[in-house]
Amino acid sequence: MSTAFAAPLLDLDAIDLPRLPKGLLDAKICSDYRIVVLSKRNNRLMVATADPADQQAAEKIKFATQLGVDWVIAEYDKLSKLVESQSTTANEAMDNIVGGDFEFDDIPIDAQDAPDKNAVSEVDDAPVVKFLHKMLLDAFNMRASDLHFEPYEHTYRVRFRVDGELREIASPPIAIKDKLASRIKVISRMDISEKRVPQDGRMKLKVGPERVIDFRVSTLPTLFGEKIVIRILDPSSAKVGIDALGYEPEEKERLLSAISRPYGMVLVTGPTGSGKTVSLYTCLNLLNKPGINISTAEDPSEINLPGVNQVNVNEKAGLTFAAALKAFLRQDPDVIMVGEIRDLETADISIKAAQTGHMVLSTLHTNDAPTTLTRMMNMGIPTFNIASSVILITAQRLARRLCPNCKTTLDVPRKALLGAGFKAEDLDGTWTPYKAVGCSACNNGYKGRVGIYQVMPITEEIQRIILKGGSALDIAQQATREGVRSLRESGLLKVRQGMTSLEEVLSVTNE
Ligand SMILES: [Zn+2]
Repeated sequence: MSTAFAAPLLDLDAIDLPRLPKGLLDAKICSDYRIVVLSKRNNRLMVATADPADQQAAEKIKFATQLGVDWVIAEYDKLSKLVESQSTTANEAMDNIVGGDFEFDDIPIDAQDAPDKNAVSEVDDAPVVKFLHKMLLDAFNMRASDLHFEPYEHTYRVRFRVDGELREIASPPIAIKDKLASRIKVISRMDISEKRVPQDGRMKLKVGPERVIDFRVSTLPTLFGEKIVIRILDPSSAKVGIDALGYEPEEKERLLSAISRPYGMVLVTGPTGSGKTVSLYTCLNLLNKPGINISTAEDPSEINLPGVNQVNVNEKAGLTFAAALKAFLRQDPDVIMVGEIRDLETADISIKAAQTGHMVLSTLHTNDAPTTLTRMMNMGIPTFNIASSVILITAQRLARRLCPNCKTTLDVPRKALLGAGFKAEDLDGTWTPYKAVGCSACNNGYKGRVGIYQVMPITEEIQRIILKGGSALDIAQQATREGVRSLRESGLLKVRQGMTSLEEVLSVTNE
């Protein structure tokens, strides 16, 4: 057969099983067609088979992976055994992850903790527990940010948010809804008998000996049951390092030079979900040294940073952003992070802190850097205080990154490129825009996200405009003269670099 099909013959006894690549091909395809993936080189897969004439198998692999197939012939018996053992290893691995290394925080459930005994026994339901574990594990592996569990009148839907977009993942039977809600509430330490008001809680998962993932959980009573959203708070997202965030070299330079100054205020702005928290945490990580006292007030803190004094604000108990800030100032701080400046009192104290020898980091909900300054004026902050405290403002958005595996060039008419904001000199023929396609390695042609930034230092000239009470337009024009790119211009640069698509930039930035 090897001669007839001009494919090499392989003795499966001779291969090093643990070194076989994993996850390149769906386990079901492997067991259905009795094949084992041996390796991947460039855009071809080397696959062991006993039947190289199986066109259907070849088509299936090509379709699933978008890769070419090179057959290697193996003996049917040995191959069957290997396929079997591969699929049981996968199952065992799953069990280990769920039952052993990957487990929920042990939560003692005794009579006092369990207001509703029936509900507790109800949640000891193995299929529901397994389903939940599988969803959490899948979400983590897909790098999802949130899981949505949604009951409707006749259906139940599970969706994940991946790279900013919701995707439907599963539709389990509607009968699961109460058990699943109870299970999630028990492990998140919520009151499982209370189904009529929203609740929030947290849970932890241990993944491996060193790694723990935090989840923030919230429930909402909807018409047909409790909708539950689980947010994954992955501590490694705060440690990706500034170079992975997508700042252009001069933008990174400006940001680093601002936060390394002894005092002043650095503001990060953008809508919810634009990655502000990750940018701030990355800055805090850079500043986090044994000789520096860092305190943060957040609502609530998303990621635990060792070495940083993190406080969750609690408006109901009177611990507002402003109250936390005042307390920080009594504790000899060097660096203060305020989750968000949304009222004049918080703004006033933050500015005073920045003027009196502290580095203050915070966020504001504004569209871009220049309008942040006018928003502050509108809040009633005297222009002198703004000009003398704010040293840098960065606005940001997240754009989906094109999958390098499947992106293809796209012919865009010159007129459309100019309309999008490219300058005539940008269209020098040295580059072409790419479009999203989609393959087995990505999500509709995108994989991960990249930041788009407007990093605006407050120069003397901009200070002068602020002091004169100038408009956002005046500030924006001066910033342009000083070489600060607008969000759209930064996005277009990422299009030139082939990192994202024009379509994506147009949808996340305004001209
Ligand atoms: Zn792809």
